[in-house]
Amino acid sequence: VSKRIPLVAGNWKMNFDHLEATYFVQKLVWLLRDAHFDYHRCEIALMPSFTSIRSVQVLVEADHLNIRYGAQSVSVTTQGAFTGDVSADMLAALGCSYVIVGHSERRKYHPEDDANIVDQVRAVLTAGMQPILCVGESYEERRQGIELDFAVGQVHDVTRDLSSDQAAKLIIAYEPVWAIGTGMVATPQTAQDAARAIRNDLAATFDTNVADSVRILYGGSVSSKNAAELISEPDVDGFLIGGAALDTDELAAIARLT
Ligand code: PEP
Repeated sequence: VSKRIPLVAGNWKMNFDHLEATYFVQKLVWLLRDAHFDYHRCEIALMPSFTSIRSVQVLVEADHLNIRYGAQSVSVTTQGAFTGDVSADMLAALGCSYVIVGHSERRKYHPEDDANIVDQVRAVLTAGMQPILCVGESYEERRQGIELDFAVGQVHDVTRDLSSDQAAKLIIAYEPVWAIGTGMVATPQTAQDAARAIRNDLAATFDTNVADSVRILYGGSVSSKNAAELISEPDVDGFLIGGAALDTDELAAIARLT
């Protein structure tokens, strides 16, 4: 029986200003209260835009909500002349628990290469937060049949530079690029195979303690229609959710199923 508490993390991407974020959290909490949701059974986290994090923090602190939150990326430097960047310490000061690192949209639209992603992971850990490291193959690697090697390789590119204490604090999101925002969800077996391969690699690089403590999420077109069968897989410890995390009913339903 797994001791890992499942995590349902909503990646809002570039949606919701601070007023919309406030409204969303209030409605979500109301829905979950109505459903007698057990926050100890499944953790819920929201990843707003930088501009909405403070509003979520105020609500969470004022109402003692059992909801965690974080950011969608972070600077690799601590302070100084880096116009437009936000440091890990700034996010930690806002009470962030998590930072998404290496999302496929960041890898595509920004110069986030492996070296930058490792540095982001280190910055997040140093500031006392947990990185949600995103990996996953594109359609092309899947067509070539090298999807598992590719996703495991992306994890390994980061973990080979970490100590086992650092690695144990990682959360990994397996997000096949072909499944993100497409409605083409991976089958439970596909998600399980990738999560298992990643966990095996953690065990080989570190030890079974690290492998057993790291939560491995699935992401890519998760909805209330497919969450239950995905979470029934032994190595799938929750979800990173894009589109469905913009809908309070959907997010509440997924959390209840997880
Ligand atoms: C994501 O971008 O992290 C994601 C999984 O998006 P979606 O749920 O919309 O596929």
